[in-house]
Amino acid sequence: METKAWVREIPRKQDNLSDWYTTVLLRAEMVDYSPVRGCMVIRPYGWAVWEAIQRWLDAEFRRTGHETAAFPLFVPESLLRREAEHVQGFAPQVAWVTHGGEEELAERLAVRPTSEAIIMPMYARWIQSYRDLPVRILQWGSVVRWEKATRPFLRTTEFFWHEGHTAHRTAEEADEECRLILDIYHRLLEGELAMPVLVGKKPPSEKFAGADWTYTLEALMPDGQAIQAGTSHFLGQNFARAFEVKFLDRDNQEKYVWTTSWAVTTRLVGALVLAHGDDRGLFLPPRVAPVQVVVVPVRAEREPQVLEQARRLQAELGSRFRVKLDDREEYTPGWKFNEWEMRGVPIRVELGPRELKEGRGVLVARDAEGQRRSVPLEGLADAIAAELEAIQTRLLERARAFLQTHTFTAQDYFDAVERIRARQGFVGVRWCGDQSCEDRLREASGGSPRVIPQERIEGPCLVCGRSAEMMVYFARAY
Ligand SMILES: [Zn+2]
Repeated sequence: METKAWVREIPRKQDNLSDWYTTVLLRAEMVDYSPVRGCMVIRPYGWAVWEAIQRWLDAEFRRTGHETAAFPLFVPESLLRREAEHVQGFAPQVAWVTHGGEEELAERLAVRPTSEAIIMPMYARWIQSYRDLPVRILQWGSVVRWEKATRPFLRTTEFFWHEGHTAHRTAEEADEECRLILDIYHRLLEGELAMPVLVGKKPPSEKFAGADWTYTLEALMPDGQAIQAGTSHFLGQNFARAFEVKFLDRDNQEKYVWTTSWAVTTRLVGALVLAHGDDRGLFLPPRVAPVQVVVVPVRAEREPQVLEQARRLQAELGSRFRVKLDDREEYTPGWKFNEWEMRGVPIRVELGPRELKEGRGVLVARDAEGQRRSVPLEGLADAIAAELEAIQTRLLERARAFLQTHTFTAQDYFDAVERIRARQGFVGVRWCGDQSCEDRLREASGGSPRVIPQERIEGPCLVCGRSAEMMVYFARAY
């Protein structure tokens, strides 16, 4: 009885995605509301997913030769104002420190909304010659952007991320860096999080404040709305000029460096919850699941050796997987099955007196509830490894199919408006590049231009009829 009531409290995903999302996050103990408006508490189970993302990225960044450092949380106002477009873009969202103790500060300090303005003055000191280049540093931390409407993980006043900041000798090297990072993010999203994306550039209206251009990866959520999953910015020489970051080149000429910055944030945790969960709760991709395998003893009260065997199994499997043994006596096995399904654990192993006698275990995949496989214990670890891979692949394939069936090429202007308004997904629109055409479509559809893929196209702009060379994908967005 109790188990059913518990499950029933999760709203159906397709009925009310927003309600489903919040309920599942709270129930699964990923996140909690905090006494600070707009700020969330990420609980251990949610943080563990972020840590898995961090671990994977850190290994990549080590391989590519990036270094990690830490810069101050505060940015003096005068520094933030150095790059005009940058400050204009971030000003409405900046939180200011005006006092230290009882004393009013001579200069206000911004709580970093991003760290270009505190990192560039350091690069100006560290970079003198072309021999000092490239500089490729990132930091892990949190930033603050004052948000009016917030949702756990997806939009919060304080959020966690890494931000990379690099300086290069030439524009080509800086752009190459942007693309290298884009490729790492792409592999993170598809390979680890099972989230396929559209990749390309942002239109100028959506680029990072102070950048020449921004590369983006855009995922599609089950309600047909887009979510920006990662960005990599080509900052040109804008910040180098504002902060006097110069170097003596091989030709003995003094030149400004070319810089980039890039990030993914804790928003990814929210995105993967939205993308993969179902009416039973979370479904975490095996590569980032905090618990990959839960071992549940069955009828252990009748046969004490069941529990012993379960503990041996936990120790054995624990060397290869993230394993949890649920040996709580106050809950029934059925309750535990539901609980761990709700928390998105990819594989469950059941162990009872019968299995004990036969030297086997029962393996159940999160997405194949009806199919219980009895597996000999000596081959169990290999069977689990194979099944985790298979689950990861199934999740990606399902998400790919969804993206494909929800990506359209608009036939004409009205077709575009209708599809975007109805949140059908990504709607490809031939576009001349004119701001007025973009604005007209934004206003009519309520969507925004998310991404411009690389490939060139030909034909008339769907808004004004002049010749267009690019396809821009519009969608409503988080
Ligand atoms: Zn046009």
